[in-house]
Amino acid sequence: MDGDRGWGPGTAAVHAGIPAGAQGEPLRPSPVFAGPYHLRGAIDSAPFDYGRDANPTWSALEAAVGALDGGEAVAFASGMAAVNAVLLSRLGPGDVLVMCEDGYPKARVSVLEQLAPRGVEVRFVPTDTERIVAALAGATAAWVETPANPGLALCDLAAVAAAAERAGAWVAVDNTLATPLGQRPLALGARFSVLSATKALAGHSDLLLGLVAARDASDAAALRAWRSQLGGIPSAFDAWLAHRSLATLDLRLTRQSENALALARRLEVHPAVTDVRHPGLPSHPQHALAVRQMARTGPLLAFTLPSEAAAQRFLGALELVAEATSFGGVHSTAERRARWGTDRVAPGFIRFSAGCEDVADLVADVERALAA
Ligand code: PLP
Repeated sequence: MDGDRGWGPGTAAVHAGIPAGAQGEPLRPSPVFAGPYHLRGAIDSAPFDYGRDANPTWSALEAAVGALDGGEAVAFASGMAAVNAVLLSRLGPGDVLVMCEDGYPKARVSVLEQLAPRGVEVRFVPTDTERIVAALAGATAAWVETPANPGLALCDLAAVAAAAERAGAWVAVDNTLATPLGQRPLALGARFSVLSATKALAGHSDLLLGLVAARDASDAAALRAWRSQLGGIPSAFDAWLAHRSLATLDLRLTRQSENALALARRLEVHPAVTDVRHPGLPSHPQHALAVRQMARTGPLLAFTLPSEAAAQRFLGALELVAEATSFGGVHSTAERRARWGTDRVAPGFIRFSAGCEDVADLVADVERALAA
């Protein structure tokens, strides 16, 4: 898992980015809170000069995520700051972007409102390997999210990356849902693997943070320069918390994936529920691809209740599960996605993020709320 040492995912999550440490030092470095650093004389004589350019606590997190992703990582203030760092710094007038139309809606809005007015042509396609590949002729880049959120369709990253290379295009993957322990886009041929660490990577619903892992060091350097120029930097404390949380990512994601699948299986046979989706369900249209591409199927499942009223009744009756947006936290959450007006989903469509609770308690809460 760790590119250099052949570690498994649990070991890599615990140890990545943690220095060996000298005698008497704490096992984990504390966060470094700094604006300016001592910088006497020549400006290239110190590894750190000013807090908008670099910070040792970011560096530790970036080393960890870079190791998990198999590239060089750069941290940003939020997932959207990471998404836009790639889109806005790497694309310009005359470029053509193929983008999946069923992924995170704010990324779509950003492309339409920020990129398109700068002369970038955007081709929207569904998250479907053949449709993406067919749209690549003459394209500069493809932006895919797999599994796409909230509908949980998958595309074949290796096939998309190979087709993009033939077409002279590059691929960026929003890997928020799977995280690098679920799938490794760079190893499958992507140029960038982007994620909102706000979700499962940090996983405790207490911070916002984003990361881009780049395959090439020159891309990582360009992203660091972009971050310093635009100033969208993460706080040292949030980076430290995210790195601390990373140690349990393997445990959390394994438990969340098991809980999500168990819930999906129960909901599939529930008479009040239709259209249950989770990549680990054999009934998922791309289940075979999920088995091949994903080491863990992730915390998200989706299902549909008969109406908006039924969905709101269900959400209101849940006791263990908070009605909230976002996903990937240790606490289960759920929401009626149509309330945002941004996704093509039925009024009773529920996006459910399975947390780390005992599965029997979760199933009992969901079944009781459905009965209500
Ligand atoms: N990408 C995906 C798939 C998301 O779900 C989100 C947020 O919901 C983002 C990116 C943006 O992340 P953030 O909220 O950390 O800016």
